[in-house]
Amino acid sequence: MMSSQVSPVKVFIRIRPTARFAHELIECPPDQQTLKVRSRKDSDKGKRNNQLSSWVFQLNGILDNVSQEDTYDRVARSVVLGAFAGYNGTIMCFGQTGAGKTYTMTGAAETYKHRGIIPRALQEVFQEVEHRVDHTFSVHLSFLEIYNETMVDLLSSIKKGKSLNSGVLTVIEEPGGGVSVKGLSLHLVHNEEEALNLLFEGEMNRIIGQHALNKHSSRSHCIFTIHIESRSRTLSDAKYITSKLNLVDLAGSERLSKTGSEGQVQMEAMYINKSLSFLEQVILALADSRREHVPFRQSKLTHALKDSLGGNCNTVLVANIYGEAAQIEETLSTLRFASRMKCV
Ligand code: ADP
Ligand code: MG
Repeated sequence: MMSSQVSPVKVFIRIRPTARFAHELIECPPDQQTLKVRSRKDSDKGKRNNQLSSWVFQLNGILDNVSQEDTYDRVARSVVLGAFAGYNGTIMCFGQTGAGKTYTMTGAAETYKHRGIIPRALQEVFQEVEHRVDHTFSVHLSFLEIYNETMVDLLSSIKKGKSLNSGVLTVIEEPGGGVSVKGLSLHLVHNEEEALNLLFEGEMNRIIGQHALNKHSSRSHCIFTIHIESRSRTLSDAKYITSKLNLVDLAGSERLSKTGSEGQVQMEAMYINKSLSFLEQVILALADSRREHVPFRQSKLTHALKDSLGGNCNTVLVANIYGEAAQIEETLSTLRFASRMKCV
C-alpha cells in the first residue's frame, strides 16, 4: 500500500480551436490558469438581463491552442507513469457534445499527429515495459460502456465471438478495497499494435451498438482501462503490483432544451444528468476528510471507478469547451462543474 495522503483532482480546460473565438466573452490571461468569462444570463436562473455578469475560474491549466502531444504531456504523462509506481489513475473528459472530448481522449486515429491520450498512453506503457528490465509485466485491456445505467462490454465480441450485450455485467467489490466488473472481458496485449487494434475494435463496437439502439454517440460514458501487473525479477519474495489506468470519455453534459425532446432522449438526458451529478458528489465527498461515507454506489460510473478516484489515485479532469459566443451558456456550465471539482 502507498501512503494515504489525498491527492487532489487536477482540472484542465481545453478550448476547441475556432476562427470565431469570442474574445469579448472569454479572456485567457497569460498565466494559463485563469479564465474570465462574461455572459448576459443571470447566473443559473437562465434569465436574460442587459448587464454582463462575469466570472473568474481558477484551474490547474488552460489548454488553448495546445497540440495533442503537449496535451498528453501536461495532462496524462504523470498519471500514466504513476501507474508504474502502483498508483491507480483516472483521466476523464467532460463537456458538451462536440467540444472535443473524444478528440482529446482517442483523437483522430487516421492521423498520427492527432492521436489522443489513449494511443499515447499505450505507447508510453509499452515503452516503460521495455525499459524496466528488472520487472516482468503483463498488460490487459478492457473497454466498458455505460448507457442508461446499463454496462456494455465493448470488447466482448472478440473474446466470445458473440454479439454485444450478452451477459449482465456487475460491479463487484473485492476484499482489499478494489472493484472489478464481473463479466467484463480482459484482454492480454503484448505490444502497442495489439493494444491499438483492440481500441479500434472497441470504438467500432461502440458505433455499431449506437446504430442498433438508435442512440446518439455522445449519450454514453466509455471507460478504457489499462490494467498493469508487475513483479520484480530481482527480489525473490517480490509481490505482484497491480494498477489501473482509466481513460474516460464521459457522456455529453449539455442540458436538454425544454422543447422537442421526449421519450428516449429525455431518459438518456436524465441518466446522464444524474450520473454526472453523482460523480461530482463523490469527488466532493472524497475531498472532505470529515466525510466517512463516499456515495460510490449511486451510479455505475462512480462504482466502477471506486478504486481509482481520490485517495491513493491520480485523478484528472479535462473540461472541453467551445470558444464561440453561441455556446457560452454551456461553456459556463462546464466551467462551473470544472471549478467545483477544483475546490478539492
Ligand atoms: P465530443 O467527443 O466532445 O462530442 P469531438 O471530440 O468529437 O467532440 O469533437 C468534435 C469535432 O471537433 C471533431 O471533428 C474533432 O476532430 C474536432 N476537434 C475537437 N477538438 C479539437 C482540437 N483541439 N483540435 C482540432 N480539432 C478538434
Ligand atoms: Mg465524443
